Amino acid sequence: MNSPSALRDRILPAVRRQRLVETAVQLCAVPSRTGEAGAVSDRLASLLADEGFAVDRPTGGYAAAPAVVVRLDSGKPGSTLQFDGHLDTVHLPFVPPKVEEGRITGSGSSDMKAGIAAAVEAVRVLRDTGTLSAGAVLLTAHDLHEAPWGDGRQLDRLIEEGYVGDAVLLPEYLNDKIAVIGRGGLVWKAVVRRPGRPIHEVMRPAEPSVIAAGAELIARLQQLNERLATRSDASAGCESAFIGQVHSGEIYNQYPQECMIEGTRRWLPGTRRADVVAELQGLFDDTARATGTAIESHVQIIRDAFVLDREHSFVECFQRAHETTTGRRLPIGAKPFCDDGNTFWSLARVPAITHGPTAGGAHTLDEWVSIDDLVRVAGLYALTAAMYCAATT
Ligand SMILES: [Zn+2]
Repeated sequence: MNSPSALRDRILPAVRRQRLVETAVQLCAVPSRTGEAGAVSDRLASLLADEGFAVDRPTGGYAAAPAVVVRLDSGKPGSTLQFDGHLDTVHLPFVPPKVEEGRITGSGSSDMKAGIAAAVEAVRVLRDTGTLSAGAVLLTAHDLHEAPWGDGRQLDRLIEEGYVGDAVLLPEYLNDKIAVIGRGGLVWKAVVRRPGRPIHEVMRPAEPSVIAAGAELIARLQQLNERLATRSDASAGCESAFIGQVHSGEIYNQYPQECMIEGTRRWLPGTRRADVVAELQGLFDDTARATGTAIESHVQIIRDAFVLDREHSFVECFQRAHETTTGRRLPIGAKPFCDDGNTFWSLARVPAITHGPTAGGAHTLDEWVSIDDLVRVAGLYALTAAMYCAATT
């Protein structure tokens, strides 16, 4: 039986910094806005195929950018650890990659192509060192992650089709704690309408004011928000109904036809997503009836709420791997954002730990990732796999 420190001493020296940086730069060099990750998926697939891996390309219901899947199997019974990442980036102008002062910069460097490169390097290291003594590692990369352009449906489908491990590591830009709880989220939009056309206010018909109806809707949403504040978690915060924008009218003396209101709704584990949607829909319908307007609404789920059982053996295994590589254990906390770990828990009840390289500028034009920390994450992922896949069956 290999001790964690014996495995570490075989794994860490096998992480090849230059190979890892080149992989990250190759992925960042291909623009891949959400929904358009086909070319970068092809690049990752050919890079893995060139290294002798058997690459599977399930579409996950999205043929424009089939996912990239590689399995490294020890051939012995054990658990499967999955490394999962998204290859798409938010819709901002493309910034090409650069390597300077210990960092990789450019679109997708922080969120999260460099993290995927670290996962790829971990798979190579496990292969090169022969340290995966049981079980398997499953590497998956896909499109359609970033909201509002994507809604996670490609990953949903991949999980349904069985591309899922017994535990998952996600290299998103969070590494100062192990997140064990996270709120679910959705974006809602309501358009309040009266039937007539926009018209000068002195000639307005006997129709309700969409601005007054919008104000009523805002008041009701505020009341909902106050009720929701009683549902709270010490680290994840409380449930909420948030209004982010309101628009109506063109000039001071025109009677407008529409009032658009948009915001989010966030909820904690234990609250059912279907109930959240039904409650919002009821609120919109009641307001429409009370104000004599029509309210058309749209709801887009970001992700369901997230829980990680801190007693799960995978959490202890990850903590030991972290301690063996850095000398310290991580505190437990909440996940500030929604990520694909929420999906793994809500669809498959699979424990998922979000842990990526130190990085910044996600969702801006100034993304960067630390190369030293990329190297650390590649070693940590490989060590976690070597320990976890062999420890449990
Ligand atoms: Zn991301």
